[in-house]
Amino acid sequence: MNEQVSRRRFLGLVGAAGGATAVYQASRAMGLLPDTGKPALLQLARAPKSGNKVVILGAGLTGLTIAYELERAGYDCTIVEASHRVGGRILTLRHGDKIDEMGYDSVCRFDDEPHLYFNCGAARIAGHHHRVLHYCRELGVPLEIMANDNAEAYTHDPDAFGGRPVRIREFRTDARGFLSELLYKAVDRNEFDKPLSEQDRLNMLEFARAYGELNEEARYKGSKRAGFGQGTDGFASLGLLKDPMDLSELLNSSFWRHSMHFNEDENWAAPLMTPTGGMDKIPQAFAREIQSPITLNAQVQAIRLRDSGVEVAYNHRGKRHQIRADYCFNNIPAHFVAGIDNNFPETYAKTIAGMYRNNFGKIGLQMKSRFWERENIYGGITFTRQRINQIWYPSHGIHRQKGVVLGCYAFGRDQTAFFERMTPQERIRFAGAAGDKIHNGYSEQIDTGVSVMWGRMKHMMGCGSTFRSPEEWEKLFPIVQNPQGRHYMVGDQVSYHPTWQEGAFSSAEFALQHLDQRVRAAARA
Ligand SMILES: Cc1cc2nc3c(=O)[nH]c(=O)nc-3n(C[C@H](O)[C@H](O)[C@H](O)COP(=O)(O)OP(=O)(O)OC[C@H]3O[C@@H](n4cnc5c(N)ncnc54)[C@H](O)[C@@H]3O)c2cc1C
Repeated sequence: MNEQVSRRRFLGLVGAAGGATAVYQASRAMGLLPDTGKPALLQLARAPKSGNKVVILGAGLTGLTIAYELERAGYDCTIVEASHRVGGRILTLRHGDKIDEMGYDSVCRFDDEPHLYFNCGAARIAGHHHRVLHYCRELGVPLEIMANDNAEAYTHDPDAFGGRPVRIREFRTDARGFLSELLYKAVDRNEFDKPLSEQDRLNMLEFARAYGELNEEARYKGSKRAGFGQGTDGFASLGLLKDPMDLSELLNSSFWRHSMHFNEDENWAAPLMTPTGGMDKIPQAFAREIQSPITLNAQVQAIRLRDSGVEVAYNHRGKRHQIRADYCFNNIPAHFVAGIDNNFPETYAKTIAGMYRNNFGKIGLQMKSRFWERENIYGGITFTRQRINQIWYPSHGIHRQKGVVLGCYAFGRDQTAFFERMTPQERIRFAGAAGDKIHNGYSEQIDTGVSVMWGRMKHMMGCGSTFRSPEEWEKLFPIVQNPQGRHYMVGDQVSYHPTWQEGAFSSAEFALQHLDQRVRAAARA
């Protein structure tokens, strides 16, 4: 038996006894994993011998994180979750999964293949979302790179370029070329309020030339960055530059207004990551590690603050249960909390009830063939001004027979309301017809589809509570972020970054550190 195999066997035994965390820690100790030098996010003091009972309401990512951390510090945790599953807005649909939309309970009919899945909620992880990455590393959730920005995908505006989809590389290159030419002319003629130094001026001219790939005469006449045209490919045949688009038409189209720059936003800049096999690998990994009881199908119906704890009533299988704990972490969406029987002080209750409820929706389509790959598109996003907004092509399962594309991404309450009024079948037909305007024969490729409009999903009815103005953030956010007695509101809704997992983890971190300081202070007293 060689050394590698015996190490593997040893780690297998460690895993059987202590789970993924133990394997991770043993691997680090054996020098098999790189030490990133980053300390664990939380160093909680051991739980006190008495007064350590915690109830966690909701098994979304935040509730799971809190259970995982507190349990390791020795707290006695109980988790109560209304849905039939953990993970909340992290929902990956595969063959046979239940879609619990109010009035339209259905089952996902994708083929039973590992690469045919759809992330209906969270899908992307940015490189600076260090809390998400910390837990993926610690729990052993494998990640892969996900193409978000793809120059070969399309921008599509029904009112521009005759409704013809245009490759993003062509649009972007021409837009920059025109801009550079103008910049060059302005710098060349010194048309600035403040004169540039001669060296600045020369550098700026060079910058404009490089940015837009201007020719010797400092004119934009096309660039190979836009891809070659006229049936040439630049490999077997000499590549011929495409003629630049018409500037007026380019300016009248919509892509440059937002989508052209979206991949430069901090949360969407390449490279992005995603768990191999679906985003729900993260909540699943937590659920595997957590030993404390997680009661599913248990809807919280009352929360009562007491002098030295919190009492919670919940309904499970038609019976009302009561639970008393020293501390309560409430991961339930704020708009539901407002409707749950409680004895919160008025300001606290009003602040929670006043939070703005946002909404999102996605449609996933299993396609009979990966026709987009024949159009040289591997991953990434096509942007359209139609109501579907975007089409995402899967970065995984390349060259397999079938794939699941995102056929619509609705943002905000108005856009989502449009789709919420339709039946799931109507949504899929709508997405198909919109896709036909971009890819020939798109709708005929649809095998089956799923739609998740979060405003209609049971136990969710919206996505991402937040505050609306800087004044509200300043005045009201601290009210929900800090505990009321021994009751903590948590979730991405209690972060400056709602609707991102990083926000959920940062809320868990804040609440846990707060509790920890409290417990340490009590121990010192
Ligand atoms: C369409 C969409 C796209 C997204 N994209 C991304 C992305 O690309 N990257 C990213 O990082 N994040 C993304 N997010 C955000 C991410 O999913 C959330 O930030 C994260 O899942 C929030 O977790 P949470 O624990 O705060 O809340 P939730 O997931 O909302 O958890 C709340 C829990 O409370 C439960 N509950 C409700 N009522 C009760 C009750 N009465 N009793 C008991 N339990 C109850 C719910 O069932 C749920 O499990 C996206 C979300 C959506 C919807």
